[in-house]
Amino acid sequence: MKKVKTRIAPSPTWWLHLGTARVALYNWLFAKQHGGEFLIRIEDTDLERSKKEYERDILAGLRWLGLKPDNEIEEVETDIDIPHNWRELLEKYESVKPDEFKSKWRQTQRLPLYRKFIYKLLKEGKAYFAWETSEELKQMRDDAQRQKRPFVYRQIDYSSKQIEEFKRQWRKPVVRFKIPSKQIKYYDLVKWEISFDGNLVGDIVIVKSDGIPTFLFSNVVDDFFMGITHVIRGEDHVPNMPKQLPIYEALGWEIPQYGHLPLLLNKDKTKMSKRSENVGLVFIKDFKEEGFLPQALVNYFALLWWHPSWDREFFNVEELLKEFSLDRVQSSNAVYDYQRALWMNWEYIRNLEDAQFVEILQNYLKEYGDEQWWYILEAFSIDYWLKLTPFIKVRLQTLRQFRDYGYYFFQPQYPSKEILLNPKMKVSMELIREILPDIIKILEGIEEGSWTLEILKENLLEFVKSRWLKNGQVLWPVRAILTWVEASPWAFEMLYVLGKRESLKRLKHFYNIYIKKYE
Ligand code: GLU
Repeated sequence: MKKVKTRIAPSPTWWLHLGTARVALYNWLFAKQHGGEFLIRIEDTDLERSKKEYERDILAGLRWLGLKPDNEIEEVETDIDIPHNWRELLEKYESVKPDEFKSKWRQTQRLPLYRKFIYKLLKEGKAYFAWETSEELKQMRDDAQRQKRPFVYRQIDYSSKQIEEFKRQWRKPVVRFKIPSKQIKYYDLVKWEISFDGNLVGDIVIVKSDGIPTFLFSNVVDDFFMGITHVIRGEDHVPNMPKQLPIYEALGWEIPQYGHLPLLLNKDKTKMSKRSENVGLVFIKDFKEEGFLPQALVNYFALLWWHPSWDREFFNVEELLKEFSLDRVQSSNAVYDYQRALWMNWEYIRNLEDAQFVEILQNYLKEYGDEQWWYILEAFSIDYWLKLTPFIKVRLQTLRQFRDYGYYFFQPQYPSKEILLNPKMKVSMELIREILPDIIKILEGIEEGSWTLEILKENLLEFVKSRWLKNGQVLWPVRAILTWVEASPWAFEMLYVLGKRESLKRLKHFYNIYIKKYE
C-alpha cells in the first residue's frame, strides 16, 4: 500500500483562518492515523494578493496548534520566473525534470514544472490557446443568457489568418483545457458518490494571459508530484471536481481520493468568510493573543464536524488520533459558536496542572504583556505564582483576562467607587466606614501561622453573623478593596493569597487615605 500523504494548500492572501486550520487538523489527523505524512504547499500564484507575512503567519499558526507539516521548509526567497514571451518558450520546458522540484513548496517556485505539462497538453491537442477578449466573452455569456441556455465555453476554430490578426492586435491568449463531454463521477470520502455532466462544464482556463497557471491546474500537478494520496478540503471545492479530475485523466495520472468537508457557518447561518464580522475571533493569531490554549482549539475544531460514536466532548490529541474517522464526519454544515470555544478554553485552563498553568501563563505574559508585567515576572517568586494559581485558573476563559485584570495579585490598584459600592448587596460608604476598622482589627488578631483559608473564612463569617449582616456586605467590600476589579477570587481567598502584611496594608491604606476622598 502507498504511504498516506495529505496536505494543506493555503493561499497566503490572509492570516491563518480557523476554516483553514480545521482543514489542516483533519488532514493531519488522517495522515498521522495512517502512519503517513502531512505536507504543506503554499499556493501563491495570485501575485498581487499573496504576501510573505501571511505565509509566515500560516506556518507559525500551524506550528502553534501542533500541526507541523512534515516537509522540509526552506524559507529562502527565490525570484519568480515569468518570461513575458512564455508562449514561444514553452517547448523548452519539455525537458524539465520533476525531481528537481521536490523540495519546492511554494507554487511560484514550481512554474517551470507546470509549463512542462501545459506544453504536453497543447501538443496532444488536449488544451489550446483561446484568443477572445473579455468583451467578447461577456458578449457570448449575454447571448447564452438571452437564449436561456447555459453558457458552456468550447473551442472556437479560428483561421490562421485570424490568429495572425489577433497577434497584430497584441492580444494575449489564455490556455484552455478541453473538458470531455461525458459524465464525470467520483466517490467522495465524506459526501459519497458525486457526478457531474461534462457537457455542462465549459473548457477551463489553465494558464492566464500573463503566463501564470490557474489554481485548478497547478493544484493537480502538485498533488500528483507531491504524492498526495488523500485530498481533504472544504466543500467549496466540490464544483472544481469536474474541472480537475479530467486533468488527471488527460495526463494519465492516478487520481487521489478526495474528501470534501462541510462548510463553517456563522451563527446566523450565513457562510463564514475571511471577512465575516462580529462572529468572534476567526484568525489563529488572534486566538493565540487572546490566550486560548492550542489544545482547546484543536478539541473545539475537531468536534465541529466530527462526532464520536458516543457522547463525549473532551479529546486530547492522542485520543483524537485514536477515535477520529472521516466516516463520522457529518455531511451538513457546522455553525461556529465563539461562546462555546470560550467555554472549551475555560475547561482546558482550569484542568491544567498548577505548574503547567504557571509556565503557560508566564510565557503568555512575556509575549503579550506590557513592561509592568515584565517587571512583575522578575519580581515575584514561582512559589507566589503557584500559591495564587488554584484561585484564578478556574476563573479564566482566556489568559488575556489575567493579563488585563490580574495586576491586583501583585500590586495595589487604584480604587474606584463604582466597583466598591454595590446597592444590590447593600454595600454603602456608611457601612464600609463603620465595619472596616473592626475587620482590620479581627484580621490583625489572626497570627501569621494561622493565616489559612479556613480560619480567614471562619473569622469573616463569624463577624458577618455577629453584626446581623449579609455575607456580601462584608465579603464584597473586602474583595473590592484588595483587588479593585469586578471579578476576582473571593475575599478570603484574596486575603490568603496576598498574605497578612499585604492584605492589611491595602485595607488600612484605603481606610486612612481613600475613604475620606469618597465622602
Ligand atoms: N489554495 C486552495 C485554497 O486555499 C487549496 C484548495 C485545495 O486544498 O485543493 O482554497
